[in-house]
Amino acid sequence: MYHLFMIDYHLHGNFCGHAEGELEEYVLEALGKGFVEIGFSDHLPKVVNPDPYHAMLEERLPEYVALVGHLQRKYAGKITIRLGIEADFFPGFEDRTRSLLASMPFDYVLGSVHFLGDWHFTSKAHRDRYETEDPGVAFPRHFELLGSMIESGLFDVLAHPDALRKERFVPPLPPEREYAGIAALLAARGMAIEVNTAGLRRGAGSIYPDPALLAACHGAGVPVTLGSDAHAPVDVGRDFTLAFQLLERTGVTEIATYEGRRMTRRPIGEFRQVAGSGRFYDMLSGGEALWRKQHEPNRP
Ligand SMILES: [Zn+2]
Ligand SMILES: [Zn+2]
Repeated sequence: MYHLFMIDYHLHGNFCGHAEGELEEYVLEALGKGFVEIGFSDHLPKVVNPDPYHAMLEERLPEYVALVGHLQRKYAGKITIRLGIEADFFPGFEDRTRSLLASMPFDYVLGSVHFLGDWHFTSKAHRDRYETEDPGVAFPRHFELLGSMIESGLFDVLAHPDALRKERFVPPLPPEREYAGIAALLAARGMAIEVNTAGLRRGAGSIYPDPALLAACHGAGVPVTLGSDAHAPVDVGRDFTLAFQLLERTGVTEIATYEGRRMTRRPIGEFRQVAGSGRFYDMLSGGEALWRKQHEPNRP
């Protein structure tokens, strides 16, 4: 029997230059799969070296906000749509980031690290660097950045906290002390941590975060959000059956939701869907392979 959650707080769209699909296509995909709540979290314009292939340029931010507002009204009563944003943390540019975030009525802000110095480690264009970078240098630096990011107080949710990790690029020693530190900082700041299924399809070989980090956070009372990090409509809610299993194993019983940057913890039962009881699973019950064939003809 499959279980999954019908809430997805990490959706991109064609504003950021490296994702495909109109925002409305993501809404329709979510509706078709039986989701009850979604949040757009496209990339906030970079406050340093603007790059239209990483994030929308600043002049398009009002358009993004207006479009999400339009979709909220158009689909009211059918699905809850939140206005989120995924913001990079650039040390030294906190004030600029704060004022940009305050300029729009966001429901929540995902905080992310995608850059280590000049290494845009989540970008396909910089993938070669994994061959030459030293994990013994990169991970300590990354943990330090995550700590500063949390302490900045700019963000609501720590997104994909170990996106640096790949199957063969891991911390030299199990970073238990660092995980405990992150968990304590998140708890002190009232932030949530994101469970993000993109790790399964971006070379990490498993969901972000590392289960040990999730366990440390859960143990410290840190709430959890869920996201697919979809950069194409078909990826909405992708691999949420596995997310369900991870959360169940970890003992998580609540999901954090946001409105106007205020968090509410809700029982996971509100979002749980069981095989056969929703349209998504009506499709899946005929076989996941069939569903994938219909939706993802070009994927192996
Ligand atoms: Zn992206
Ligand atoms: Zn990201």
